[in-house]
Amino acid sequence: MAARLLRSSLRLWGGRGGRGALRSPPAARYSHSGGEERLETPSAEKLTDIGTRRIFSSEHDIFRESVRKFFREEVIPYHAEWEKAGEVSRELWEKAGKQGLLGVHTAQHHGGVGGDLYSAAVVWEEQAYSNCTGPGFSLHSNIVMPYITHYGSKEQIDRFIPQMTAGKCIGAIAMTEPGAGSDLQGIKTNARKDKSDWILNGSKVFISNGQLSDIVIVVAATNREAQSPAHGISLFLVESGMRGFIKGQKLHKIGLKAQDTSELFFEDVRLPSTALLGEENKGFYYIMQELPQERLVVADLAVSSSEFMFEETRNYVRGRKAFGKVIAHLQTVQHKLAELKTHICVTRAFVDSCLQLHKEKRLDSATASMAKYWATALQNTVAYDCLQLHGGWGYMWEYPIARLGACAKRGLIIAISRPLCHTRKKSPRHRAPSLCG
Ligand SMILES: Cc1cc2nc3c(=O)[nH]c(=O)nc-3n(C[C@H](O)[C@H](O)[C@H](O)COP(=O)(O)OP(=O)(O)OC[C@H]3O[C@@H](n4cnc5c(N)ncnc54)[C@H](O)[C@@H]3O)c2cc1C
Repeated sequence: MAARLLRSSLRLWGGRGGRGALRSPPAARYSHSGGEERLETPSAEKLTDIGTRRIFSSEHDIFRESVRKFFREEVIPYHAEWEKAGEVSRELWEKAGKQGLLGVHTAQHHGGVGGDLYSAAVVWEEQAYSNCTGPGFSLHSNIVMPYITHYGSKEQIDRFIPQMTAGKCIGAIAMTEPGAGSDLQGIKTNARKDKSDWILNGSKVFISNGQLSDIVIVVAATNREAQSPAHGISLFLVESGMRGFIKGQKLHKIGLKAQDTSELFFEDVRLPSTALLGEENKGFYYIMQELPQERLVVADLAVSSSEFMFEETRNYVRGRKAFGKVIAHLQTVQHKLAELKTHICVTRAFVDSCLQLHKEKRLDSATASMAKYWATALQNTVAYDCLQLHGGWGYMWEYPIARLGACAKRGLIIAISRPLCHTRKKSPRHRAPSLCG
């Protein structure tokens, strides 16, 4: 992990515990080498405990402490207000940037923080544990930024990445259209050449970070004559404020209410040649390359959310009485909790192995799809069962479990919708490779 990341964590740790804490960081408590001595989640007191799971080190634990503190102090107290507003504040993005929580896994020489994949995972897992779905940090840092660093020119990287790491430039990616979601090759948004410029026309829908975005990667058809639609798709970097780029409605969703999911419209937007990301007509290929990481993030968010829901529910049933007894003492409730914990821990083991594979650049598309398919289904089962264990209170919005039930559904839909995980790879029109080979 980069020294900068650790330094910033130590600063925060010091801020909490004073100078004494800085002299004796928690690394001493978690002395280990290579992680062999660390508890796995089934043996930990809580599934969300810090200092567990062999993929992490004591440095990650220190960082996790600081990220947890950030969400506890800077996000949780304001989240209900942001849910009403339908978006988080820009100030939050800049605070996250200052704390080194954006672009964590982006190389320092590109203008990122330079941490490893696990450090990036710490940030998205902690967001799930905070139960604050508003800030679109993981999309910005782990989906949008990698497109720019992997396929962008030096000028594009220099222009956007440092600003994105600082939280001063918010990123979004616009693939889905009113008439084309799973079948991305059916998009109508198109860009045609006009001398060295491009003219972009079309519309997109369901775009996360859509309202706050400063830079949007827009997927557009650039060659209708190509041998297949996949060979005629390109990516463009479209900046907020460009003439003809209109941000439409903030969409009313059943969950993720503090996240600004929007419609976007492009009416004869004139783009310079430097707005093309990567090579012309290679866009579909780039999307396929980036999908495993996207699915892995969704899978890890889903299992982290399941861990959080489990702990919330365990806590709740320990305090709730019925028929003169604490309901946690009822055998059927204990059986249900044991069943949920088993499923979550088995899934955690698989997702952690996917994180490890991805760190070693060995995660293939089918395995990432399996993780996403399995973990998002689990998240919905856990949400359903945990809501049930809360009784009527589980249906009240102020109870975290109610929100989680609504938010869990998104995981089934994004980054390849769940039914498509099953489909055979018969047709090149499918957006993602099949699990069936
Ligand atoms: C909260 C939220 C945030 C989002 N954020 C973004 C974003 O930032 N950027 C972005 O571009 N998009 C975003 N999306 C859009 C999301 O990626 C799409 O909704 C998704 O790709 C599905 O597309 P669709 O909604 O058009 O469904 P459709 O493609 O119309 O699918 C409808 C149903 O048919 C099934 N289906 C379709 N084709 C097949 C097939 N061949 N075989 C079997 N079943 C099939 C699907 O699985 C689904 O169940 C977001 C969506 C949500 C809900």
